[in-house]
Order: sequence, then structure tokens, then C-alpha cells
Amino acid sequence: MKLLLENWRRFLNEMSFKKDTKTVVGFDFDHTLARTAGGQVAYFDPDRKWREAPTKKRPVPTGINQKYFETNEKVAEKTAAKAELSDNQIEKLLSLARKDPGKARKLVIKYMRCDGSRSDPFWCPSQAQLDFYTQADQWKGLWKKDPSQRPDCWAFDFSSRDILGWEQGTPEKSQQLPVMKAFRKAFTSPGVEIVILTSRSSAVESQIPKFLKAVGAPAIEQHHIKGCAGCDKGQFLYDEIMSNEKDYDIGNLYFYDDSEANVATVSKAIQRAVNDGLIEGEGVVYRVDKHNGSFSVADRFSPEQTEPSEPSEPSEEGEQDETPT
Ligand SMILES: [Mg+2]
Repeated sequence: MKLLLENWRRFLNEMSFKKDTKTVVGFDFDHTLARTAGGQVAYFDPDRKWREAPTKKRPVPTGINQKYFETNEKVAEKTAAKAELSDNQIEKLLSLARKDPGKARKLVIKYMRCDGSRSDPFWCPSQAQLDFYTQADQWKGLWKKDPSQRPDCWAFDFSSRDILGWEQGTPEKSQQLPVMKAFRKAFTSPGVEIVILTSRSSAVESQIPKFLKAVGAPAIEQHHIKGCAGCDKGQFLYDEIMSNEKDYDIGNLYFYDDSEANVATVSKAIQRAVNDGLIEGEGVVYRVDKHNGSFSVADRFSPEQTEPSEPSEPSEEGEQDETPT
């Protein structure tokens, strides 16, 4: 049985390449190839009655169980209230958390509204908001002494993320031009194959080729477009591309992402692959500006120098981004 499951898993994840492939260039999708719109509605769930089933990766789920909508109204983005706190206000609160945790704790409790003083569903489009209303990693320090005090009363409907939306109205206007230029260049380079790895669900895999077509970009193979929701991108690249070499020998890996968390996990995985002798050429992670698509080297690794030549910014490790950032 184990073997069967193992084979099935392999089949599902198979990332095969042409024999002459020497280089893989990978792209995140949201805010790397295109400035997408989207987010999720938050629903008041103080007793945690309506959460998705816990998994090993997510023992405290933040997603809402879709069964909730059998008896409760689903609120559309346009009709949902706005989140009470903006990204700027959250940023200020986060710096206060570093300076005066006691005061910050009180304000977090106030604005989480777990007492029900503001219990209407609200639209929560940004990563900063999602992180605040789930009290994600960067907030955990506030509850170190007594984790049971961490407020947790909002459940998020992530299903709206299954459809791609465009920040500038259309795919053409929303493409990240500098990254799309790198995409086109990779496509025409010999021995190079492209993969797109997004932290949305597999539901968007068939929509991404439509985006490429709409912006006049070359089509890539469908099985090189992966929806990898909740997965660790670095681990995925390590397992499915760098160490899964069969009839081909991938010597170089380049990856573009706008999320600091992904830059960190992908860099870590590439460094491991270099140390394990899986990358003979070089591995480079590019940090993409989510507003204009410009990018720069975040980390570069090669067997000659096992230490990164340009140290990356310190960032939260481990967790993948949840919203299309
Ligand atoms: Mg992104």
C-alpha cells in the first residue's frame, strides 16, 4: 500500500523535463509574473466551530469549512465590510510590538474584536491583514508567555483565490513587464525549461496558460505549472526538480519571487542542493518588486562558494505566503 501511495504521489507531482535540459527557470505567479487582485472574506468564528480540518502542516487551521455556507450567507468581496485596520496601521502596531509588547498586546486584543464588538464578515485582501487577523508568525512573540491568550476568532474563505483576478483590470495591463521579459528570454534559450510555481490551489493551473496567451507570451507545458497551496516552495523545488533527476541533469536553477518568505525557503533549498552536489552550475533567487516587477539578486549559490555571496535580508522562515502577494 505504501508503495502504491508513493507511486501515486510521484505521478501527481511528476516534473519531467526534456533530456537536454540543463537549466530550470522558475517563477512565482502572483505579483511576480502578474499583479493580481484578490483576497479572502473573514468570518467571525470565535469558538472555532467552522474551521477546516487540522493537518500536520496546519494544526490550527485558519480556513473556513465550506459547510458553513450551507446555513450561512456567503458574502461577496464587493459587499463585505472593509477590514478595520489598514496595512500601514498594522505595520505601526507591529513595530510597537517590538518596543512595548504589553501595550501592543492590548491593542491587538482590541482590534481583533474577538469579544464580538465587530463581528460582520470583512474583506481581507492583503498579506499584512491576513497575518494580523491570524496572528501569524511575526506576532507570535506577543503570546510567548501564554499562547492560550492569542486571539483566534476569524476564519477565512480562501476559495475565492481559485479564480485569477487582475489588479489593473486585464492580464495585459497587469503583467510584470521586467519579469515577463526574463520569462521570454528563458523560453528562447537552449537547454532551458520554465516552471511556474504558485501558492494558490491547483484550480488556477489551467488559468495561467490563458494569462500567457492574453499577454502574447509563449506557452509552456501544462505539467510545468503547479498550484502548490500550503506547500513549502523550497522543499518542492528540492524534491521535484533538483533531486528528481532521471534522464536529465539539471545544473542550474533560477527562481523569481516577490515574497520574502518564499525567497528565504527557496534560498535555503538551493543552498542544500548545492551542498548535496545536485546543482553543478549555479542557483540564483531573484527578489521581485511587487509593484513594478523590477528584480535583483537575493541569493546566489554555486559549488565554488558554499556561502551565499550576498547575504539575504533576515526574514520569517518556513511559512509560505497565504494570499496572492
Ligand atoms: Mg507572489
